[in-house]
Amino acid sequence: MTNNYYLVLAGGVGAAKFIEGLASVIDPSFLKIVINTADDIELYGLRICPDLDIITYTLANIVDKQKGWGVQNETFNCLSILQNYYDFKWFNLGDKDLATHIFRTDLYQKGYNKTEISAVICEKLGIKSELIPMSNEEVQTFIITDSKTMHFEEYYIRYQCEPKVLDIKFQGIDEAKPVSHIFEYISGAKKVIICPSNPIVSIGTIIGLPGVKDALKKVKQKVIAISPIIEGATVKGPADKLMKCLGLEISCVGVAKYYKEIIGHFIIDNKDCKLKSEIEKLGIRTYCYDTIMDSIGKKKELAQFVKDVKI
Ligand code: GDP
Repeated sequence: MTNNYYLVLAGGVGAAKFIEGLASVIDPSFLKIVINTADDIELYGLRICPDLDIITYTLANIVDKQKGWGVQNETFNCLSILQNYYDFKWFNLGDKDLATHIFRTDLYQKGYNKTEISAVICEKLGIKSELIPMSNEEVQTFIITDSKTMHFEEYYIRYQCEPKVLDIKFQGIDEAKPVSHIFEYISGAKKVIICPSNPIVSIGTIIGLPGVKDALKKVKQKVIAISPIIEGATVKGPADKLMKCLGLEISCVGVAKYYKEIIGHFIIDNKDCKLKSEIEKLGIRTYCYDTIMDSIGKKKELAQFVKDVKI
């Protein structure tokens, strides 16, 4: 049975920009958003879910739009004292943001799982979309570099993606169960939309959970992805470096090849339109559009374009 809702697979910053547009062209209560949790990290005794938090703050309309993460009009008083107590100083947490992590950790300690906690936070913040952590179990992305093996957030934030990446490890992914309703949502959704997110460490972890790729393959004609790679480079973040380490071509063609079993439609940037026919040879209907979301107008236009793709 096909329903009225859209299932969205999302990472952090790139996804949040697109979802802001999507929520203005589709009733937010018809959006079910499965979010990567393999970047989740425990710091200062608190549970932090970077991707989930970015999407949550975006849909609650409190995100710091300039930075693309965190809460707007933030202060860092608590952190300034915390940094006296702890040795590490590389992860920025604002006072308002910390409130979310304190609340989340409190609910964990009371026995709530990730899905339940996300539902409570969404309700408290007035979010109408369903924000679904990809699994209630732990999956952790580790980056193996030429200096040491480190958590993805350490590689991204502390070391600014500078160390040479030798390999990527998704600890726990083979054993972790995806949230159970993801299968019902994949088969029932009007469309499945893969955000312009990091294909390896944000979308790769969701589709790497047992059973998810097979479920998507069955409905690939309604699965639409937007390329996060434009003219052979990322807009932001380390997707290019991670694709290179896995031997993938760093281009929208490389992304299309990575997704080819699970997508029927692919949106590439106008600047890459010369590569359209190469992607179509993979059996993927390909569309060119302006995918740089540097204003609310452009976010909405891209979202409307994706909404209008005929499946
Ligand atoms: P992260 O967790 O902060 O890395 O966020 P995501 O997983 O959502 O992915 C970041 C990806 O989004 C990068 O590969 C960027 O190239 C891509 N991205 C960010 N902004 C845009 C944009 O405006 N347009 C497109 N097409 N991709 C974008």
